[in-house]
Amino acid sequence: MKQGYDGSEEGGGPRRSLNFRRALMLGAAILIVRSIIVLYLEDQEQQRVIVDDIIFPVVNGLAALSLFRAARATRSQDERMYIAWAFFAVAQVLYALGDVLWSILEIGLKETPFPSIADGPYLAYYLLFLIGILLLPAPYQSTFERLKSLLDTGVVTIFAILIFWSFLIAPTVATLEESDPLANAIAVAYPVADLVLAFALIALIFRKIEHIAQRPIMLLAAGAIFLIVADSIFMIKALRGVYVPATLGDSFWLISYILAGLAGVLQVESAGVPVRASADRPSPGFTWPLYLPYVCAIFAYAFLIWSMEHEDVNLYIRQHHLAAGVGMIILLIVIRQVIAIKENTMLYAAAQHELHQRIASEREKEHLIKELEARTSEMERFIYTVSHDLRSPLITVSGFLGFLRDDIEKGAWDKVRKDLDIIESSITKMDRLLQDTLELSRIGRMMNPPEDVPFYDIVKEALEQTSERIRSRGVSVSVAEDMPVVHVDRMRAVEALVNLIENSAKYMGDQSDPRIEIGCMRDGETVFYVRDNGIGIDPKNHQRIFELFYKVDNRTEGTGAGLAIVKRIIEVHGGRIWIESELGKGCTVFFTLPLSEKT
Ligand code: ADP
Repeated sequence: MKQGYDGSEEGGGPRRSLNFRRALMLGAAILIVRSIIVLYLEDQEQQRVIVDDIIFPVVNGLAALSLFRAARATRSQDERMYIAWAFFAVAQVLYALGDVLWSILEIGLKETPFPSIADGPYLAYYLLFLIGILLLPAPYQSTFERLKSLLDTGVVTIFAILIFWSFLIAPTVATLEESDPLANAIAVAYPVADLVLAFALIALIFRKIEHIAQRPIMLLAAGAIFLIVADSIFMIKALRGVYVPATLGDSFWLISYILAGLAGVLQVESAGVPVRASADRPSPGFTWPLYLPYVCAIFAYAFLIWSMEHEDVNLYIRQHHLAAGVGMIILLIVIRQVIAIKENTMLYAAAQHELHQRIASEREKEHLIKELEARTSEMERFIYTVSHDLRSPLITVSGFLGFLRDDIEKGAWDKVRKDLDIIESSITKMDRLLQDTLELSRIGRMMNPPEDVPFYDIVKEALEQTSERIRSRGVSVSVAEDMPVVHVDRMRAVEALVNLIENSAKYMGDQSDPRIEIGCMRDGETVFYVRDNGIGIDPKNHQRIFELFYKVDNRTEGTGAGLAIVKRIIEVHGGRIWIESELGKGCTVFFTLPLSEKT
């Protein structure tokens, strides 16, 4: 049971390939036996002809049978493949039929079998074979590839026409006598049919290249080549009147039939095996067909030169026809090169484009990673700052709770009151720190939809909210009138301005003529500013003052969160903020905001 199971699953391979080996041995045996007989009957042409008239139809019949089995085995795999193989099989049957008719005429009726009714099926063979090849499913090709293989096919076909015309067709035409037009037509039909077969092979090479990599098709093509060779040898010898029937030379025909039969056996085998795309695809080294057109061009040119130097040799092709053929080949090759250049340019451009895109996305990635790293470290600093600064009032509270207990035990009531005051102020401070932290975290999350607001209105509102401090410090404020409309969360923008104006008023020092100037500069980009003539900031602190809870001087009022909040508000609007200041020379805070698209 197990053996049977193995046999049907995958063990079928070896058993089947045994079939191929047997077929191969059978073919070789037939070839050898015939050769021996032919040699043995060297002087008896009659007998030799009879032997061949029996062997040829039998071998052809076997080949046809094998091809039919191949077609049937292919049926379940691929519809088009199946139809192609069916054509090969029918073609072979017709050839076998031709053989049978020939033999009946030659041995049975003792008539000359050429020209005869046998020529009908014979000639049909070539046509059906071509159709079979053309029906093989073609692999996908781009427009460029299709054009190139078309031109390649053209070049090699022109070369084949030149050769067939010069050596087979034209010489045959030259021997014709006018008496029997049908016989003449049939005589010319054979070399033309061989040309058709050659064209089938050329089409196979350039259009169905993948199939040549498949061994059954390879065998079939080899069979066709042998047929062309056998036909050509026969015709050349017959033209010279030196053809002797049924000799070793006719073995080429036999080989051709055997190869067709072997192709069928192999196809039956491979039809059972699942198609592996990689195995059927030509390997990268499978490039020889690419050179074929150039080889043909060189040979055609050499042929032309040779014909010019051997005027004495009777060539059946006119020199200017030959020259025209060579010219056509050159023209097609030039067109092919132009197409290849165009294709290469396009491929190169596409590759370049792809490369640029990759570089751009790589840069983008790096940029994002850097930004993420910056955000992460900012976050870490933030958490550190918050927890650190929140702890100090807590420590104060817990310290003074200890003093409080001692003082209560001692009954030192005036100290108790002082302790309680300090504890209370620490708690208030902590509450403010927490409120500022909350405020900072809200920006970005709790935004109102942006609206178009004249920047002047924002300034005016901020000045109203800070009017008390401004008046009490005696600050004179000047606001530029010609300022653009911005596209912002109005409330947040006012909040930022309030913070900046308050800072300017707060850090005036002992300035006798305190002034604040609010305006904007348009130098490509629109930059707003709040300028004062207060105590200024040492440049070494320009970065740190934007950090949460950072204060230059701890004795000043405020938590040190103001500028951190302002910076956050500007940044969620997509703007930037920076400072220009020197100690004792006032301070200017610059920032950008999105402008209204209507202005
Ligand atoms: P706060 O004002 O609550 O201390 P800010 O974040 O607003 O906190 O400011 C941080 C520090 O920057 C302030 O403590 C102050 O030392 C300095 N500063 C801010 N604005 C000005 C200014 N206009 N002139 C001088 N120093 C300033």
